[in-house]
Amino acid sequence: MSRGLQLALLLLVPLAILAAAVGLQLFAAKRSAAQGYLVRLELPAVDRTRDLPAIAGPQDASRPLVVIDPGHGGFDPGAGVGPVKEKSIALAIALALRDRLLEGGGIRVAMTRDDDRFVTLSERPSIARQLGADLFVSIHADSAETDGARGSSVYILSEKGSSQEAARFAARENRADTVNGVSLSETSDTVGAILLDLSQREAQAGSAGAGALFLREIRGKVPLHYDTLQSASLAVLKAPDIPSLLFETGYISNVDDAQFLNGQQGRQTIADAAAQAIRAYFARQAGT
Ligand code: ZN
Repeated sequence: MSRGLQLALLLLVPLAILAAAVGLQLFAAKRSAAQGYLVRLELPAVDRTRDLPAIAGPQDASRPLVVIDPGHGGFDPGAGVGPVKEKSIALAIALALRDRLLEGGGIRVAMTRDDDRFVTLSERPSIARQLGADLFVSIHADSAETDGARGSSVYILSEKGSSQEAARFAARENRADTVNGVSLSETSDTVGAILLDLSQREAQAGSAGAGALFLREIRGKVPLHYDTLQSASLAVLKAPDIPSLLFETGYISNVDDAQFLNGQQGRQTIADAAAQAIRAYFARQAGT
């Protein structure tokens, strides 16, 4: 080996080792950057689906909070045949009600859903409880085998329905979590087993009071199916500590009701009456 070659090797070998080490480090840095990027993309997407809905209206926690619950959604269309679906009617009326309440000011509003998505029956009152709601209002529409049934009804919770028709209505609504006979709600059995007890009496009194105000405001503006407050074992109303009611706004299966529920004017009339009732309920609560 010549002296020149020896010198060249002495210089080149450390350089080659250095280059390999730098290359490995660069490779490692790229790997870890790629891994970090994947982590940042994946985790929030999982968390976001568990977020509670936003509360609209005054940023003052002392103001009353109503949670509006548009029935059904996503792959659960609710009642109705053909293009007219309960889930769309319920959402449109619920959004109109939210807007009317916010326009009037002084009341905070949150929605269990504000788009076409599936929410289980037990999640709905759970959202209201986690937000600390003062009132829970579920919006629905019904359908019957015959064209004859029409008009709206207001329901509160009871273990024993106020009539056989009320019990059938509750059975239909409580099936919302069941697809092809399989229950989607882990807690549906527990929810079904909840009995009215002493802790629910105060909430029940609130539910009855709010229900009476709904009937008072609806009467004369929106056709009524039942002129008195109805009660049924409705899973969605089973928050033990929040006054809750279900506003069944009309029958999709009736031509006149379907027209009313589908039209801008009909929906606004229903939303105005419901907003008036909610406002009256909170005014009464504040006065006591
Ligand atoms: Zn329904």
